[in-house]
Amino acid sequence: MTILILGAGQLARMMCLAGAPLNLNVVAYDVGSKQIVHPLTGQVFDTTLAQAIADADAITAEFEHIPDDVLTLCCASNKFYPGKAAIKTGGDRALEKALLSKTAVACAPYQLITEKAHLEQAVATLGKPLVIKTCQAGYDGKGQWRLKSDEQIDQIWSEMADFIASGTESAPHSIIAEQMIPFDREVSIIGVRDKSGNTAIYPLTENQHTNGVLTLSVAGKEKSTIQKQAEDAFNKLASELEYVGVLAIEFFDVGGQLLVNEIAPRVHNSGHWTQQGSHCSQFENHMRAVAGLPLGSTELQRVTAMINVLGQASIPEQVLSVPSVTSHWYGKMAKPGRKMGHINVSANNLHQLGERLAQLSEYLPEEDYPGVLAASTALI
Ligand code: ATP
Ligand code: MG
Ligand code: MG
Repeated sequence: MTILILGAGQLARMMCLAGAPLNLNVVAYDVGSKQIVHPLTGQVFDTTLAQAIADADAITAEFEHIPDDVLTLCCASNKFYPGKAAIKTGGDRALEKALLSKTAVACAPYQLITEKAHLEQAVATLGKPLVIKTCQAGYDGKGQWRLKSDEQIDQIWSEMADFIASGTESAPHSIIAEQMIPFDREVSIIGVRDKSGNTAIYPLTENQHTNGVLTLSVAGKEKSTIQKQAEDAFNKLASELEYVGVLAIEFFDVGGQLLVNEIAPRVHNSGHWTQQGSHCSQFENHMRAVAGLPLGSTELQRVTAMINVLGQASIPEQVLSVPSVTSHWYGKMAKPGRKMGHINVSANNLHQLGERLAQLSEYLPEEDYPGVLAASTALI
């Protein structure tokens, strides 16, 4: 079977790696160069997108900001999963909030903004501070503003107005203002749904972000009440979207109550721990779901932490001397802050995981790998 993935980054690469033992042949469409490539080797195939769509048994995506014409072509083939509605919703915060409201899943209080008066109204009704986000673009905390005082309104509005003006009639741009949530921590749930509606959900992951970018995740700490809230949200959203594949939901935990931050209609950075922490990783489960194969187990095998490697030219080799550590390198050109790879570390229990994180922190300087030592201390 051949699977075509829209996008040729690290998520496509890891889906390709997971698909190989299942005898799934994976090719990727690089949206930037408009070429069909091999997601692992980068080899360019002498074929068109239309031909790749015709040749594929199933089509999926590694990101949600897909050009409309490409999405339309793929959907017309009836082989595209998780489907147009899911991709559109994941790529537009206004549609995302509408879905949450329809399914009665709680999120931060918000207001949509297309003119300056809406911004002033948001400050008056939601209060300060506000987190303001572009609805149609943005990832890793890009396309966001933090409004803390009235003096910032004019400046932020002028930057927002530029974004709104860069939209077109067929693809309008809008902005959303959210109340800044004083959360205790951030968590996410990764689950998978197959073509018959069966679901399997991984244990909740606790996530640390630094400057809006995920830096570290830990899986295997959860209390059942919080896990249940997250699973309820997953089941409601996945069934409303008639979803097929892996869906990720990010939450704020506020005193034991989960509020959705955002959803991602794809495999997700906070699910990378599943490569070592579960029997069937999120990448394999996504491949299984879109290929129409039975889902794999999402049960936790070992408590696992994931550390992102941001902007570094390589992963320090000494990390491999720590027991149960694996290195995952994406083969990309290094740029400051860019996601270059990740490190997974597993253990038999949370205490041992803490010890291993402490060992890792000796090889991973705090300025490049923030929070490793703090995560270790919290577990020991
Ligand atoms: P991703 O790479 O996860 O797609 P993104 O650019 O879509 O990132 P968000 O997840 O919306 O951005 O926000 C990034 C981070 O900013 C969040 O993980 C959280 O730490 C913080 N943040 C976002 N919205 C809020 C909010 N309403 N209240 C408090 N913090 C927030
Ligand atoms: Mg996002
Ligand atoms: Mg996010």
